[in-house]
Amino acid sequence: AKQRGRNSFQFYTKDINSQTYRQLILENQLVKALAREEFEVHYQPQVDVISGQVVGAEALVRWRHPEKGLQPPANFIAIAEETGIIEGLGAWVLQKVCQDIRQLTRDGYRIPRISINLSARQFRQSDLVEQCRNTIRSAGIAPAYIELELTESTIMKDIDIAVGMLRQLNALGVRLAIDDFGTGYSSLNNLKHFPIDTLKIDKSFVRDIPGDRDDEAIVTAIVALAKSLELEVVAEGVETREQLGFLKRLGCEIVQGYFFSRPLPFEGFREYLKGK
Ligand code: C2E
Ligand code: CA
Ligand code: CA
Ligand code: CA
Repeated sequence: AKQRGRNSFQFYTKDINSQTYRQLILENQLVKALAREEFEVHYQPQVDVISGQVVGAEALVRWRHPEKGLQPPANFIAIAEETGIIEGLGAWVLQKVCQDIRQLTRDGYRIPRISINLSARQFRQSDLVEQCRNTIRSAGIAPAYIELELTESTIMKDIDIAVGMLRQLNALGVRLAIDDFGTGYSSLNNLKHFPIDTLKIDKSFVRDIPGDRDDEAIVTAIVALAKSLELEVVAEGVETREQLGFLKRLGCEIVQGYFFSRPLPFEGFREYLKGK
């Protein structure tokens, strides 16, 4: 039997392409990582360029791999999404963020909100609203501390279901943001019916401003749109003084990027807030 076991293993490695095989291993490791609590949430400050105050932060997950060190989401989020692990991981992230908010407010820090990325699969979870309500309630924080970031493609997959879900989440009292705005497709007509609070300008549009005429035009249009719909607008990926200056002149007041800070572990984020 041992012999056959070995043969069937060889059969596996030869016949299933190594890409699939690597994915299977990764999937298995992710399940274990979740059970062992190897994930961390890092926080990237969002700064109001007029007042200089931290008005929020984005929660970004990392995997502290026991051998390979800190892994960025690019190395595991897609697999987590495909396999459904994202549901458990997303629930963990939400819980961790709620606890961290609780901790910060206890320590006397005023951080108006923390944004959490929600994947398409989580958004389609039938118990998402219930899960958010329960997690927020058991942490004892106000729902308005939480902002959920959704991409246009997540919302547009099934617009009727999406609008229903957005309304329920809005009724719960959490804030809603459209992430990577401009990279996907959402009609302006739909946008006006979504109960959202924030548009986030993707860093791909920020990278080459000022200078790239097309990107300048896109960013200008998004900021104007946000203003006319009375939405908050946040520019991500701000790395330089020039980018910041351009955004400021447009009236884009909230920015996030390496110019102010990289995403920080909880303790580092707390230190950052202390310095403000
Ligand atoms: P995103 O939502 O577009 O997040 C912004 C990404 O830009 C983050 O990458 C952030 O570290 C990076 N960034 C911030 N400022 C700058 C800058 O000035 N320059 C440059 N070049 N990059 C900057 P990160 O942390 O690697 O996350 C990548 C993506 O993974 C996120 O993109 C988001 O889609 C996803 N993600 C992260 N955390 C979670 C999570 O908890 N759940 C889910 N479902 N997805 C997540
Ligand atoms: Ca995001
Ligand atoms: Ca709202
Ligand atoms: Ca982005």
